[in-house]
Amino acid sequence: MSLSKPSRESPRESLDPEDRPITLPTGEIVVPVVNSFPSLIRVAFMDMIQADDYVSKDRLAPDQWARTHVFLDNPKTKAIGQRDRNTKSFAQSRYELVQNRLYRQASGKHPRRYAVPQNEVFEIIKAAHLKIGHAGRDKTFMEVSASNHGISQTECEWMATHCKFCTLNRGREGKRPLEPITVSRVWERIQTDLIDMRHTPDGRYAWILHIKDHYSKYTQLYALKGKDSEGIAECLAMFIMAFYPPEILQCDNGKEFKGRCFIYFLILGHASQPSLYYLTLANSI
Ligand SMILES: [Zn+2]
Repeated sequence: MSLSKPSRESPRESLDPEDRPITLPTGEIVVPVVNSFPSLIRVAFMDMIQADDYVSKDRLAPDQWARTHVFLDNPKTKAIGQRDRNTKSFAQSRYELVQNRLYRQASGKHPRRYAVPQNEVFEIIKAAHLKIGHAGRDKTFMEVSASNHGISQTECEWMATHCKFCTLNRGREGKRPLEPITVSRVWERIQTDLIDMRHTPDGRYAWILHIKDHYSKYTQLYALKGKDSEGIAECLAMFIMAFYPPEILQCDNGKEFKGRCFIYFLILGHASQPSLYYLTLANSI
């Protein structure tokens, strides 16, 4: 039997950009197990702060932020109407431009800080929350407000409570936090999982075997009549014959993946016999 090595690039092309592996400056490639702030979270946050009835007493409204920028960039600009005159007065007394970026002047205990426009709030809180290792509301707010003006503690709380990583680790106090798995190529680590479809079987098929390459996220599904080891082993063999033997086979701690499956790999006898990892955490596929 000859096994041809699959393309390393093709399965990645169809991925959501947020799920793609990240290449660190060191050249190491990290596949994030948990995307702490997927795009749906961003959409929900932006919907909240852009709502007509949302009040942010510290941050300039988008139109005021733009006018403040204009008034400082060109002080001869004439204000139109009372609200605009107030904005101009406020701009000249409280704000300044530094390298064409808008800053709130130093006041009290605060140094000069970046005046955050509405469309950058999410990314700034996200960056601060990740930088300090998923600390809670107060530390995230301290990190944010050290160099930024216009973001509230409530907004930091919203982000901390909606962070997927924090949600998964909540209730795991005293336990080791979930850590990302590092892989550097396709078929280095294959994850498997059994999906129970007995509530909606398709004829005699009531189980789905889900096999996924951790690096490329390439996924293959196999319909099964039961969750016996023999059927799973045959599907794994088909997967290997169609693609490439994995170095690591990661599966949950069900007995279905032990015994016959492992023997199958021994029979195959390829040089890189896979290690079997049994997950004790929640399924991570
Ligand atoms: Zn978090």
